[in-house]
Amino acid sequence: MIIFTDIDATLIGHDDYRYEEVRPLIRRLIEHRIPVVLVSSKTFAETVSLHRDLGLTEPFVVENGGGIVIPTIHPMAQEASEPLRQGYLIEPLGPNYAAIRRFVASRRMKGRLTGFGDLTASEVAQLTGLSEEEATTAKERIFSEPFLPKDPGYLPFIEAQAVEAGFAVTRGGRFHHLMGAEIDKGHAVDLLLDRYRRNGRLSGPVIALGDGKNDLPMLARADVAVLIPRPGLPHEPFEHPHLMRAEHPAPRGWRESVERLLYKQR
Ligand SMILES: [Mg+2]
Repeated sequence: MIIFTDIDATLIGHDDYRYEEVRPLIRRLIEHRIPVVLVSSKTFAETVSLHRDLGLTEPFVVENGGGIVIPTIHPMAQEASEPLRQGYLIEPLGPNYAAIRRFVASRRMKGRLTGFGDLTASEVAQLTGLSEEEATTAKERIFSEPFLPKDPGYLPFIEAQAVEAGFAVTRGGRFHHLMGAEIDKGHAVDLLLDRYRRNGRLSGPVIALGDGKNDLPMLARADVAVLIPRPGLPHEPFEHPHLMRAEHPAPRGWRESVERLLYKQR
């Protein structure tokens, strides 16, 4: 099988960002050559440290599907022709950050929203509970802008204006995300599945795990979709022919669900 997984509140704890509990299982998946593909709204800088820390070698998806990152040592890296960054190819799937920031800074958006680009690292740290160093990597955007509307009532206006400008708004765990239209996690997973297939590296079912609305397009592509509950919140409403609802939030819900699927396979 192949596993596509969201990170925040799916693989790692929603409030404490912990994931020690999944580490041994991920090691086992790597040993069994089961690809684990991170699919996140996080930036390249944020995701790459987790990717390395978990010892993963597969491609990963950053900024909600804004781009695909392929380690240069990976066989699938040969097809890509993008410039290198720290041993990774970064393939854009939509508009870049400068174009998105121009929209945020435009006259019609004035006073409507606050994006990461408007905040200092310590302000981002305060809003997210991240350390200042982590907030700095969270601010290194390439394809999307997390934001909060200055008033919740502004959101429909922001969404409509974004669509008119060729962008889209999606909801993540804590923030809304402004990014290219037609960019989502499902689109990125489609592209990757196609490549895995062409490289003869796709066998068995496609598993996808997520907790948020922005994960649903990814879950829709999977043979088995796993919804992880967020502490104190109901599951996202979602229908899928093979839907598993994890009993516990991340990271425990992730570990239990993947273990169950592994045992089923044997
Ligand atoms: Mg999440």
